[in-house]
Amino acid sequence: MDDCIFCKIIKGDIPSTKVYEDDLCYAFNDISPTAPVHVLIIPKQHIASCNEVNGENSGVIGHIFEVAAKIAADLGLSEKGYRIVNNCGEGAGQTVFHLHFHLIGGRDLLWPAG
Ligand code: AMP
Ligand code: ZN
Repeated sequence: MDDCIFCKIIKGDIPSTKVYEDDLCYAFNDISPTAPVHVLIIPKQHIASCNEVNGENSGVIGHIFEVAAKIAADLGLSEKGYRIVNNCGEGAGQTVFHLHFHLIGGRDLLWPAG
């Protein structure tokens, strides 16, 4: 998608701090972190939101959760805990319409989310 900021990050047209990359997904630090660890994990394929997940593209979702567990382990979060968040749609706070999962940790996290 030509006008998608996260597609541009994947292509390297917009700079980012890479945390992890493979053929299917890319992970980088959130530019406006809400916790000591705030990583965004995105599929390389442009999927606008969870609403667009279907039988043809859903394989990457399981892969992203595998990658999230690996990143959390690498950053020493596995034992203490962390949160994986997806905001789907404007009403839920989605501002970038390229599917992404926030991996947040490194501090005590409150629940329920606002
Ligand atoms: P959401 O509100 O769930 O759509 O999350 C979008 C996230 O993308 C926010 O946490 C932003 O801080 C983050 N973000 C926006 N632009 C960039 C960027 N250029 N590099 C890294 N993170 C970004
Ligand atoms: Zn995109």
